[in-house]
Amino acid sequence: MNEENKIGRRKAIGSIGLGLAAITVAPAFAGTGKLFPKTVTQQRLEDPTTKYPRPPFKEQSQPWPGLAGKMEPRPDHGEISYKGSGRLAGRKALIIGGDSGMGRAAAIAYAREGADVVINYLPSEEPDAREVIDLIKKEGRKAIAIPGDLRDETFCKKLVQDAISGLGGLDIIVNNAGRQQTHASILDISTEEFDWTMKTNIYAPFWIIKAALPHLQPGAVIIGTASEQAYDPSPDLYDYAQTKAATMNYVKSLAKQLAPKGIRVNGVAPGPIWTALQVSGGATQEKLKNFGGQTAMGRPGQPAELASIYVQLAASDASYATGQIYGSAGGNGQP
Ligand code: NAD
Ligand code: MG
Repeated sequence: MNEENKIGRRKAIGSIGLGLAAITVAPAFAGTGKLFPKTVTQQRLEDPTTKYPRPPFKEQSQPWPGLAGKMEPRPDHGEISYKGSGRLAGRKALIIGGDSGMGRAAAIAYAREGADVVINYLPSEEPDAREVIDLIKKEGRKAIAIPGDLRDETFCKKLVQDAISGLGGLDIIVNNAGRQQTHASILDISTEEFDWTMKTNIYAPFWIIKAALPHLQPGAVIIGTASEQAYDPSPDLYDYAQTKAATMNYVKSLAKQLAPKGIRVNGVAPGPIWTALQVSGGATQEKLKNFGGQTAMGRPGQPAELASIYVQLAASDASYATGQIYGSAGGNGQP
């Protein structure tokens, strides 16, 4: 630790709000009666309302599935801010949709918590994926990129097998990929489009979990990304919203089925988050301009703000949490 950061307790308390600083608190008595030096990391007190960009946002549109690297402003996935503390040391994680958005935030956080990580994404997302792979490697962790389309059952099975052989096992699966397209009317949704959404959001997790289950040990976890749409669907997301209700539901069913095996299953329910999915057909331009403005916080969330939830659900100290859905929605979300 930097000598300059070693400050006394009184000074430490007086400096709250000045930013991150590792401080040494004066030696204290432990229960054993022995003196010990205690090191804590001080976190800056941040106002969540002003921490990140607020609407109005610039009009922007990309072809599906979009690139985070081309968004304005660029989303924060915790590239600079996320600090690990060994919570997932030695774990082996497969993150589906790990190139951008919540999956990328989880991938960065998992690596900084000590996990080796496989990410899956679509081949057209290679530029985003490369950045994630580099960030994981920078942490000295194993980083494996397996691009491919999840709508294909054979690919999903191979993805799991390749992840297991690449990592030497599997402890954490984050089913996070998603297809979302806005349609004003049910009449605008073709059977092909409906099938695309169902295959990506419902079938792929089913295929992936089936392929992985025989390899999972007690202590392994499965995490699904649901949505506030599961509870409060928007009129223009008829097909997408029902897949998120299905995600919430499979988490609860599977949690009961797998609890006796020591495998936990939980979900995350984000509100409006600033990700590529929203600028590549997931939202209308009108919605995008005021994105997140309808929440109590008055702004969209950033993927980085959900990273610690994915970590918490994967960590062994959350051992009694299964069948739960954790919301993060700026005040308006459920549960
Ligand atoms: P994102 O676009 O950054 O991530 C979604 C990822 O899904 C893509 O990066 C892509 O790699 C993957 N994907 C989609 N179709 C695929 C396919 N056929 N094959 C392989 N990969 C495919 O957007 P995000 O918002 O971070 O999305 C992550 C999850 O969060 C999704 O499940 C989404 O439904 C959910 N979610 C998002 C929001 C939001 O406002 N952004 C809100 C609630 C829930
Ligand atoms: Mg992406």
